[in-house]
Amino acid sequence: DPRLQGISKAIRVVPDFPIPGIMFQDITTLLLDHKAFKDTVDIFVDRYRDMGISVVAGIEARGFVFGPSIALAIGAKFVPLRKPNKLPGEVISEAYVLEYGTDRLEMHVGAIEPGERALVIDDLVATGGTLSAAVRLLERMGAEVVECACVVGLPEGQRRLDGKPLYILVEPR
Ligand code: 5GP
Repeated sequence: DPRLQGISKAIRVVPDFPIPGIMFQDITTLLLDHKAFKDTVDIFVDRYRDMGISVVAGIEARGFVFGPSIALAIGAKFVPLRKPNKLPGEVISEAYVLEYGTDRLEMHVGAIEPGERALVIDDLVATGGTLSAAVRLLERMGAEVVECACVVGLPEGQRRLDGKPLYILVEPR
């Protein structure tokens, strides 16, 4: 797909952010490039529009940038998966492993019905730990997670996904 090169080029790489040794993939520059931003959403929409998906679940915070546009275009609802203690209603929670320590994702109880078909979206997958926590949240609510999708995928991105399909657009630069 010739659009992928433009998407890759629009992502800025920031060395040593947020800590020394990390080559941070900055998607804010992709959002400044109308064509690259639209191409990104269009590719996901084309892939998911006829897959019977009724829920797009986006991971805080950069999953919120892409998820709602995809949800609206494919006729699905959008469910935010948030960091701890942000959601005001009753939540379920899943912990996941970070490089140092753990974190949690939370989802509102009642956001989805059992049997709904879901897509999980984030900007980037590294170990897959964050996406796998998202998958567990949705499956605990009885959803069927059809696929996880990210704009950028590190080669090891499948590691913690336990066989769940992962769709990525580009590799890190
Ligand atoms: P994982 O759980 O797969 O190891 O890490 C993925 C999570 O870390 C995602 O939520 C993603 O937003 C964030 N993340 C890690 N490294 C980067 C990076 O270089 N750029 C961006 N934009 N996000 C990153």
